[in-house]
Formats: sequence, structure tokens, C-alpha cells
Amino acid sequence: MQCVRWAERERRMLRAALAQAPDYFYVKDRHSKFVAVNANTAVINHFASPEAMNGYDDFALAPANRASRLYEEEQEVMGLGKPMVDVLEQIGKRTFVTTKVPLLEADGTVMGLVGVTRDVTDREALAALARQNSDQLNHALESMSDGFAIFDDDGVLELCNEQYRRVFPMTAHLRKPGATIRELLEESLRTGEILNATSESIETWPKLLRGVAEATSTVELNMCDGRWFAIKVRRSGERAIVIMSDITDLKTTEAVLREQAEALRSIANIDSLTGLSNRRSFENALAEASLNGTGLLAPVSVLMIDVDHFKAFNDTYGHQAGDECLRLVAQFLNETAKRKGDLIARLGGEEFVALLPATSEEDALTLAESFRSNLFQHAIPHAGSQLGVVTVSVGVASDRRQLASSKDAKDLLQKADAALYGAKRGGRNRVNSWTEESVAPFERIAT
Ligand code: GH3
Ligand code: MG
Ligand code: MG
Repeated sequence: MQCVRWAERERRMLRAALAQAPDYFYVKDRHSKFVAVNANTAVINHFASPEAMNGYDDFALAPANRASRLYEEEQEVMGLGKPMVDVLEQIGKRTFVTTKVPLLEADGTVMGLVGVTRDVTDREALAALARQNSDQLNHALESMSDGFAIFDDDGVLELCNEQYRRVFPMTAHLRKPGATIRELLEESLRTGEILNATSESIETWPKLLRGVAEATSTVELNMCDGRWFAIKVRRSGERAIVIMSDITDLKTTEAVLREQAEALRSIANIDSLTGLSNRRSFENALAEASLNGTGLLAPVSVLMIDVDHFKAFNDTYGHQAGDECLRLVAQFLNETAKRKGDLIARLGGEEFVALLPATSEEDALTLAESFRSNLFQHAIPHAGSQLGVVTVSVGVASDRRQLASSKDAKDLLQKADAALYGAKRGGRNRVNSWTEESVAPFERIAT
């Protein structure tokens, strides 16, 4: 009696479970006729009770073509003894998924099947929505002009668009979800695709992603193909959103502007007639070098040069020929004082200067003499001069000490100027070095 009661109780529980389950349960016989269904199945088929459905088949309940499809499918399940699992079916606006399993007798013969059909319309709609969202997101990412990537806090690339990949000429193929920032950087460094990346970047850039360095940071990448990118990192939760914008045009404009500014600066410092430095740039260079005393190594020598009877040259041959003559003198001077650190300039008119660091008075005199004689031997006709050719007078002054201030430098220039005046007085076309007896410039003005 007890056993019978238990069996009865189990059956009731099973029936209750079937009746209350949200899915559609049904048992069919070998001929695909319903032998048991749950409440849901009865309701959807418009029967008053589950029992009322017994003996019906799909031919009585569904349109003919669907009924015969279901019949064939079920006969196959029962014929082959193989379950049919999770088959999707669209009925009207709703989507169902069905599993049918053959029902076996104790001896293994098939006596029917058990079917479970679940309404998955909402689930499918959600999945479709998710797919649609993801499509829209991908579309948006692919149509943006910037590179876009998301890294998680372990430095793993979660997502990136094609533009992001295209930033990297050598490692584009590695930039896929799952790759780590560290291995990507190491490969970039190995291939040399980022010119301004160093081994230090492998440590510092991941920090930017984790927001350790700053909340928002910008880094500029100079790629090996000449392009420049600005990287912006924004933190979002446990992730870093990376945006890479092409700033090559900006950088090019910047470089052009810099070049132009540099050109303007040098135009302001260069004597347009001879291409030598002008007085302004000479004085600046001198001030800069003598200020810290490092630029002008002792002993320092100065040559002060003036073309002889140049007024007469202009008067004889004209101003244009005069200009040409000054260019030649400049060229000779350039060829004379060509050591690194030598400063040559046209101070104005037909007057030039050469400042020679690490040059003794003796060497300076030799240099001055070779300059004078070279020009003399070049024999530029000068009818207005007794010698018949263009000549120069050169004053030389030296200081054994390193020039420590701009006053020292000025003094030395004045001495060279005084020596030059001595050379003029001595008959021109000569080199004269400064002595205590040299006439000081102010006396020269007075005479
Ligand atoms: P000295 O032998 O005493 O130096 O006589 P000088 O005639 O050379 O000297 P002076 O100072 O009397 O004349 C310098 C001349 O140089 C006067 C000026 O016309 C000329 N001069 C100055 N600057 C230029 C220039 O840029 N081009 C030309 N062609 N001549 C110039
Ligand atoms: Mg002069
Ligand atoms: Mg002169």
C-alpha cells in the first residue's frame, strides 16, 4: 500500500511540474499522436484540458505543410532513434526551439517520443538587439577617422578598429583582441616602427593606459613612414580608451614654420652682400662666447681688415664692381680663417673682422700675412692705388688669456683696430700687430 501511495505521489509531482513549467511538453506515440501534454501545450492549441488533446495529431491542429514536416521529422527521430536537439522554428511573430527525444520500451523498441518546445522569442529578440548594437558599434568604429582601441587593466587589447591597425606599419597584423600592450610595444621597438619609442616606453606607456601617470595624457608617436599620431587616453571603469589622431599635417606645418623662423633669423644675421655674418651676429656670438669664457679658448687673436683706397676703387670702377670686389675679399677671408670656432664677419663698408680662438699672435700674423699676399697675388686691377691692384691692411691683436667678459673682447677688438690704423699709417698693404705704441682708436678719430 505504501509503495502504491509513493508511486502515486511521484506521478502527481511529475504532472504538476509538467503542468506548471513554462515550456510546452508533450508525449507522442509511434504514429505522432499526442498521448500526454502539459497545460501550456493544451492552451496554445485551444483545448480545454490536456487530456482533451489525447489522440490528436498535428494534421488536425496545424496547417498541412507544417503538419507533414513535423510528422516526417518525428518519424525520423523515432525511426533512427536519434534525438533532434534545439531546432529553431518561426511561427508567426514568435520563435520556438524544440528538442525531441525517442521514447524507448524496456527492450529498446521505440514506442514514441517526448518533445519540449520553448518560446525563445524574447531571448532571440535580445540576441538580435545585441547583434545589432554590436554591428552599429563596429560600423561607427570603422567609419571614424581616428584609430580607436580599448585595453583592459592588464594591458590586454579588447577591441580596436581598422584605422588603429593602420597606424602601425609593422605590427598591424598583431593588433588583435587578446594581444597585450607589452608584447605589441616590444615588437614595435624591435621593428623600429615608432621612431620616438625607447626601451623606457615599454615601462611608461602601459602606465599611461592604467591611468597611473595622469588621468588624461597625450603622447605623440613619430612613425617610421613619416606620419605623426597624437594618442589620447581616457579611463573608463577598468579600461583605457585609446584614440589616435593623425597629426602629420600639423607637424609638417610646424616644421615649415620653424624652418621659416630659422631662415628669418639667419637672414637677420647674415650680410647679404658677402654671405658672411654681419656686425650684429658677430657681436652676439662674441658676447655669448665671452660671457661664460668657454667659447673662446686662449690665446685669442683678432684680425681687423680694411680694403685700401676703396673709395677710389668705387670712384674708378663703379659701385657694382666695388660690391664684386668686396665679395672676393670675403671669399679670400673665408678661405683663410676656416677653422671651427673662427668667427668672420663684415663689420660694414669695406671692413672685416676675423676672431680666432686658440690662435697665438704668431699664428695670427702668419694667417693675416697669407690672406694679404693671396689677395695681392690675385691682382684685382685698381687704377686708383699706387700698387695698381686691390690690397688690404690688417691689424692683429692677441690675448693670452681666455676671454672672460665682453669687455675683454671689446678691448681686444680695439687693439686690433689700433693696429690696423698703424698698418694704414705704415703705408697700407701690410699686416701690423698691436703694441703699446699703437695709436688708440680715440686718438685716431682725433687726428
Ligand atoms: P683707406 O685706404 O684709408 O681705407 O681708404 P678707403 O678709401 O678705403 O676708405 P674710406 O673710408 O675713405 O672709404 C670707404 C669706401 O668704401 C667708401 C664707400 O663708398 C665704400 N663702401 C662702403 N660700403 C660699400 C659697399 O657696400 N659697396 C661698395 N661698392 N662700396 C662701399
Ligand atoms: Mg674703412
Ligand atoms: Mg678702406
